Amino acid sequence: MPVDSVISAPQSADLLVPLIPGVVFQFYRSHCGQMRFSYLEGGGESLKHIDRHQLAKDANQLIKQLTDSDHPKIMSAIERSARWMLPLSTRFRLPFPNAKPRWIAVSAKPEPAANGVFWNGIMMDITDQVAEEQRLRKLCDTDPLTGLPNRRKLMLHLNHLSSLSARHGTPLSIMMIDIDHFKRLNDRWGHLEGDNVLKKLAIKTQALLRSEDMAARLGGEEFMVVLPLTPLQQCHKLADRLRDAIANHDFGVGTGQVTLSIGVAEYRCGEPLDSLITRADQALYSAKDVGRDCVCLLP
Ligand code: GH3
Ligand code: MG
Ligand code: MG
Repeated sequence: MPVDSVISAPQSADLLVPLIPGVVFQFYRSHCGQMRFSYLEGGGESLKHIDRHQLAKDANQLIKQLTDSDHPKIMSAIERSARWMLPLSTRFRLPFPNAKPRWIAVSAKPEPAANGVFWNGIMMDITDQVAEEQRLRKLCDTDPLTGLPNRRKLMLHLNHLSSLSARHGTPLSIMMIDIDHFKRLNDRWGHLEGDNVLKKLAIKTQALLRSEDMAARLGGEEFMVVLPLTPLQQCHKLADRLRDAIANHDFGVGTGQVTLSIGVAEYRCGEPLDSLITRADQALYSAKDVGRDCVCLLP
């Protein structure tokens, strides 16, 4: 049988467009900011709850539904694309009645028009893809044993916080934490019990922190706590509370068997992160030197 005879080709774009799993559109924005969808057709779920006739007159009905950061994000993407005649490419959450918002990707090419700009483009529902991206990102950022952020995530976070601190002149402190004689604990109680101590330590540490603080596992039995908006003295006090709480807790191997040495340091405006971390590390070595189960800071 000839191949052509088994393929049911649509007769025209009008027949094809409702079959595609996305939306084809033409969007117009006048120089004074009026917006409308001069064309909006497609298949899939995305169009079911949208009043296309209304959007043909005024696109604000759709845009003002966008929540959180999505509204300014889409408006500045439109603005940038219009100003530089660059392709518009972004994603946003579209609220749905009685259901979770769906992630929509939009990709469109601008074209100058009388008193404004036209965009010809497509929108696709990428909710499943975004969920998968989020799952993989979490996997990349999380220590599998304790569920705490890992070193990679911590360094990104610390980078961000240090630039905020440098810009606004706000304090930022860190604690470098190391379990004392952990090898001995493993040797005596076994590696699995050692793992349990690491997990419980993560929970107890997080319980002492505010939601904006971050505790991360750097590797092995080493952890770091990052405290935004916190000067050194306050960080030192909190570190000592943590040290005391751990020393007085029975992790299942007897009270006093798990202790911490902690070095604390405060960010100095503009310094490289390496130097902040080195100071906290040196303070931690001092804590080990003076007998462990203590908190040190460099003079
Ligand atoms: P110090 O007081 O000087 O820090 O002594 P320490 O024994 O804690 O330090 P050392 O670096 O000699 O040993 C660290 C131990 O941590 C050795 C290693 O087997 C153990 N360790 C590292 N990662 C894990 C882990 O994921 N689970 C368990 N159970 N043990 C771990
Ligand atoms: Mg260590
Ligand atoms: Mg240790």
